[in-house]
Amino acid sequence: MRFMLLREKFKGSALRSGGGIILSLAGVSLISILLSIIFDAHKPAVYNHSDIPDRRWFRGNTHTHTKPLDYFPSKRIPVIASWYKNAGYDFLVITDHNTHDSKDRNVVCHNEVADPPDFIMLCGLELSNSRHITGLGIDRYIGNEKSLQDGVDQVIEADGVPILNHPMFPPVKATQFIATRGLNHLEVFNGKRPKDTRRSEMLWDSVLSSPGGRLVYAVAADDNHHKKRKTGLGWIMVESPSLTPENIENNIRKGNFYASTGIFLKDFRTNRNEIMIESENGTRVTFIGRWGKVLNSVKGPGAVYKPTGNEHYIRIKITDDDGQAAWTQPFFLN
Ligand SMILES: [Zn+2]
Ligand SMILES: [Zn+2]
Repeated sequence: MRFMLLREKFKGSALRSGGGIILSLAGVSLISILLSIIFDAHKPAVYNHSDIPDRRWFRGNTHTHTKPLDYFPSKRIPVIASWYKNAGYDFLVITDHNTHDSKDRNVVCHNEVADPPDFIMLCGLELSNSRHITGLGIDRYIGNEKSLQDGVDQVIEADGVPILNHPMFPPVKATQFIATRGLNHLEVFNGKRPKDTRRSEMLWDSVLSSPGGRLVYAVAADDNHHKKRKTGLGWIMVESPSLTPENIENNIRKGNFYASTGIFLKDFRTNRNEIMIESENGTRVTFIGRWGKVLNSVKGPGAVYKPTGNEHYIRIKITDDDGQAAWTQPFFLN
């Protein structure tokens, strides 16, 4: 009953996507509980906030540039923030290259353009000396990183979430990803390099599948370089009890989000035997397991899957006829 009530409340607002969507939260909260019962999951569940009664989804872009080589980006930030706010986003991260911010090394948050409680900014930058990494939610300026591992370490030391950006430029191998301690997020979709998506998805599955691999979360982001028409290519929907930097960052860190290039989820839950998912606007639902194996592919906006227990992990991708997609984070099975 509770689920139905929340679902009714949610209905009709998904495509608008602004202001924090209220989803079928009671249903989502069952996922971690039931999967842990059914599968005795030994790795962290994706949705683990079952103690929060009313949760919401917030839309945000984690990768936004003001202008390459712009040493005075602050003039552009209010304009860029307004693009996202007016497009129905709830949060934004400005991620200028640390190698370009030579004159203003302290400004990484840009709270001056936030408009709480409806729109917030998260602190961040894109480490660019070595491998490009978003430092999301960092509490200080970082840089001069010498390697992928050094960059990840610096982000974590600054209390941020490291995200491997455009993993195919240049290509990162699964072995290198796995060997990088503390790296648990990658861009499966980057708005500047959409053609890399298939190979980035393969990397994701390889990290999830390889012996010694681990749970890694997929992000979609614009990598917008100060162009309004490049707004809204890829984003994440973060499940959080409220729109505060602390809550959004923590739930990104824990994988409580899905990635999208245009598909919005409407319902996502499980019972003892099944995983059920429904989108607002998808036309095909694909359940994917170890090494990217298609477990089942169903025409329509939603589908049900009965795990056999041998999948290793299950993730869900929903697509439409125009090539838009949403990616859930994986469930690891026992
Ligand atoms: Zn980059
Ligand atoms: Zn970038």
